[in-house]
Amino acid sequence: MAPIHLIDGTRGERLPVKPVYGSPCNGCGWCCATQACGVALEHIPDHPTEGTCQALERAGGRFVCGMIRRPGHYMRLPHDWADEVMGGMIAEALGAGRGCDAEI
Ligand code: SF4
Ligand code: SF4
Repeated sequence: MAPIHLIDGTRGERLPVKPVYGSPCNGCGWCCATQACGVALEHIPDHPTEGTCQALERAGGRFVCGMIRRPGHYMRLPHDWADEVMGGMIAEALGAGRGCDAEI
């Protein structure tokens, strides 16, 4: 497994180890810290093609997808009224809640 990149916001907490593929997601953040997904690359303006996703957030002791929580913020929209609808669509597209999809 490749080393995880340093992520701000952990406050020195010991992070959970990535579970095996298909196991329930434990919010370890490994997937999004190592490479931003297609949603980020396509919808976040000027997102670098390699490296940690700019929308990776930490909340409640786990890493969460900022594009699900508040996509308008990362897409630099002038309002947030569509966040709930867009976030739901993004969650569906990402397969959120279907287990760890990082194959290593
Ligand atoms: S999908 Fe897997 S690698 Fe990504 S945060 Fe969840 S458990 Fe970690
Ligand atoms: S958009 Fe969400 S799922 Fe995709 S890499 Fe960023 S934080 Fe992870």
